[in-house]
Amino acid sequence: MPIDATLPYDDQNIFARILRGEIPSTRVYEDDHAVAFHDIAPAAPVHILVIPRGRYVSWDDFSAHASEAEIAGFIRAIGRVARDHQLVAPGYRILANVGAHGGQEVPHLHVHLFGGRPLGPMLA
Ligand code: IMP
Repeated sequence: MPIDATLPYDDQNIFARILRGEIPSTRVYEDDHAVAFHDIAPAAPVHILVIPRGRYVSWDDFSAHASEAEIAGFIRAIGRVARDHQLVAPGYRILANVGAHGGQEVPHLHVHLFGGRPLGPMLA
């Protein structure tokens, strides 16, 4: 069920639990600012979620409140994961859903990274 992106951060959300290692995930990358792992229900041959280590509900929360170092680190991590998976030459897509209309279901910022096949036009 889509979330209200204006609610306070919930420390029990599933990605917070993945960050703490309470729930298993298949991590493909991690550094001081970001962690990346495979989506449990992949929508493309490559479907990786990149999340900041910080407690940010959504892209809105992150863009408003994260430090310059966190923002730079997170964006660089997304690019790094794409390069590590040889996605640059064929191309790929990044996407962040925000709040109810965006279809966001997990209240910890995550960027979807899709690749491995032609993805077609962006869905509305
Ligand atoms: P959203 O709709 O943008 O919030 O996307 C949430 C994504 O998290 C979906 O693509 C889910 O398949 C994925 N997801 C939910 N739980 C887990 C998990 O435990 N591990 C990995 N991915 C998950």
